[in-house]
Amino acid sequence: HHCSAQKFNYFPEKAYINGKWTDSITANKFEIFDPAKNTVLGSVPDCNLDDLNQAVQSANQAFKVWSNFTSEQRSRILRKLYDLHIEYKQQLAEIITHENGKPLRESLVEIDSSAKAYEWFSEEAKRTYGDLIPSPAPNKRFLVLKQPVGICGFITPWNFPAYMIARKTAAALAAGCTVVIKPAEDTPYSALALCQLSEMAGLPAGCINVVTTSRKNTAEMGKAICHNPLVKKISFTGSTAVGKIILENCAHQVKKVQMELGGNAPFIVFDSADIKKAIVGLMASKFRNSGQTCVCANRIFVQEGIYDKFIIALAEEMKKQLKVGNGFETDVTQGPLINKNAITKVENLVKDSIAKGGQIVLGGSKCDLLGGNFYEPTLIRDVTTEMEIAKEEIFGPVAAIMKFKDEEDAVRLANAVSVGLAGYFYSSDLSQIWRVAEKLEVGMVGVNEGIVSTIEAPFGGIKESGFGSEGSNLFFFIFLIALATMILAR
Ligand code: ADP
Repeated sequence: HHCSAQKFNYFPEKAYINGKWTDSITANKFEIFDPAKNTVLGSVPDCNLDDLNQAVQSANQAFKVWSNFTSEQRSRILRKLYDLHIEYKQQLAEIITHENGKPLRESLVEIDSSAKAYEWFSEEAKRTYGDLIPSPAPNKRFLVLKQPVGICGFITPWNFPAYMIARKTAAALAAGCTVVIKPAEDTPYSALALCQLSEMAGLPAGCINVVTTSRKNTAEMGKAICHNPLVKKISFTGSTAVGKIILENCAHQVKKVQMELGGNAPFIVFDSADIKKAIVGLMASKFRNSGQTCVCANRIFVQEGIYDKFIIALAEEMKKQLKVGNGFETDVTQGPLINKNAITKVENLVKDSIAKGGQIVLGGSKCDLLGGNFYEPTLIRDVTTEMEIAKEEIFGPVAAIMKFKDEEDAVRLANAVSVGLAGYFYSSDLSQIWRVAEKLEVGMVGVNEGIVSTIEAPFGGIKESGFGSEGSNLFFFIFLIALATMILAR
């Protein structure tokens, strides 16, 4: 039913290795589902270690070519990838909504962000400046060069199936690296769409390889990517638990790693806050992608003076704004969760908090809709830190509201977890803004702002949320570039 663009294939049933559309050597395939309807979108190859080996070999050959392109040549191809993202925006967004379920308008925003990643790094590609360092010896000069690291292995999640790949790939290609991508098993089609665009852009064969892999083979493939000596760097976005496995696997060869792991974002609303603005920010931070982002507000702390008022206003806004359904319907804001397991997880978290004294203000159960992967937008008050919902990433459309006394209390509660990705707070007190912004143990702080992700600024966490940020200038991208200090004697 999709024939708007002739050359473009929505659901190719192949992996992409060395510039070719290929089956697995085993000929095995696995099915991909539309989470809204639970219908099969298609099947893709279930790649094994031999397929991975081929992908790495091809990335290795391509590296010899691509790293010798001038930065200007690389920049032009990245710029074409930007242009193609704009040209194929509608198709690319539809692929996301099909495989991930998010509302089409959010998919369009994701493609805009992906396009911008290619645009941004097409510009940054030309600015991998080095350094000249004054020497203590009269007959020596110190010169610092930036060199591409080599082959990068990317393991990516399903919640932003295009952008998580774009942000890594654009930077790696800009630096002169080549890549092997293992996309999330639920969402391989956005990765395969990128391969189609890369052909149109004239990217040399082997610069981007995609090995689609089923859940069953993921652990083995993940280990093999980390253990392959030709792969010089791993960039991973996903859960903290899997991040730890990957780190262990990378320790083996002291492989460079970059980790974007789970968060448990505090969202603090102080008495002095503009409540209307705080609710706008919270709606965006909490309910984007039906609550399935690693920077979603997870623990919402509201100061006691405005607690009741805030909850009434939030409930009203949720009722007014949120509509659950198939992401292809124009007025839907809340698509399905990614799969059955995600529904079960959210159900258990809500059950646990009710058992421990949480009060449901809105929602509280799954919806009987289409394929059954939908959960009602839910508001729970009187949440405490003893509840699982405050300890784990909810990854669903559930706003869990806690009460706090004063600033010290809020900061202590916010920091009392092992992770630290994003954090948000709303306040009109300028001194408080500086104090709290600096005290929150997170990689990114939104001050009177609910969205912190943009390609211009570094994105990344601290504590068990990982290390090595993405986006921003190539200074932050040293992760894709090896520094070599040359000492020249005259
Ligand atoms: P999520 O909760 O988003 O599914 P995961 O961390 O499980 O988070 O998944 C993120 C990515 O990590 C996916 O591409 C998934 O296939 C991959 N993955 C899962 N388990 C492993 C593993 N043991 N080794 C390497 N990659 C893995």
